[in-house]
Amino acid sequence: MIFYPNLYCKNVMAITIDVLQKNNIKGLILDVDNTLIDIDRNMDPGVKDWICELKNNNIKLCIVSNSNKIDKVKKVSETLDIPYFYFAKKPFKSGFLKAKDLMKLECENIAAVGDQIMTDVMGANRCKMFSILVEPISEKDIFITKIKRPIEKLIINKYLSKLKKEKV
Ligand SMILES: [Mg+2]
Repeated sequence: MIFYPNLYCKNVMAITIDVLQKNNIKGLILDVDNTLIDIDRNMDPGVKDWICELKNNNIKLCIVSNSNKIDKVKKVSETLDIPYFYFAKKPFKSGFLKAKDLMKLECENIAAVGDQIMTDVMGANRCKMFSILVEPISEKDIFITKIKRPIEKLIINKYLSKLKKEKV
């Protein structure tokens, strides 16, 4: 199902080395807005530690953001010392594939992480990458995202009830 993530997490810090190794993931593509920072551009201090841990375990990293605000994306990139692509037009494949080329990995060894189904999850699934959906950091969203949230909530609820059924 193109709308369903392979994994659903509370936040990026819940994505452990263990989870990545189990799924043969060697690189992560990271969304910015509401995944790494909130709408006021604040980053949880735990994110930096999480990134360090990933780097220490040789997980490759690349930011792919749909934002056209280069100063914002660049600042996150510099804070975490990760390369970036901005204005990426997810769910189109091009941004994901640029990151793939940069990381020199195969799609099956890459996980893409983000808070939106219509852009992050769909794009990752289209590229046959491992898709990880995280809960948005804050409730506040830019206008266009706000419109999409109710639809996303419906899909997430369906997805969670499917997971529940599978466990029974
Ligand atoms: Mg986002």
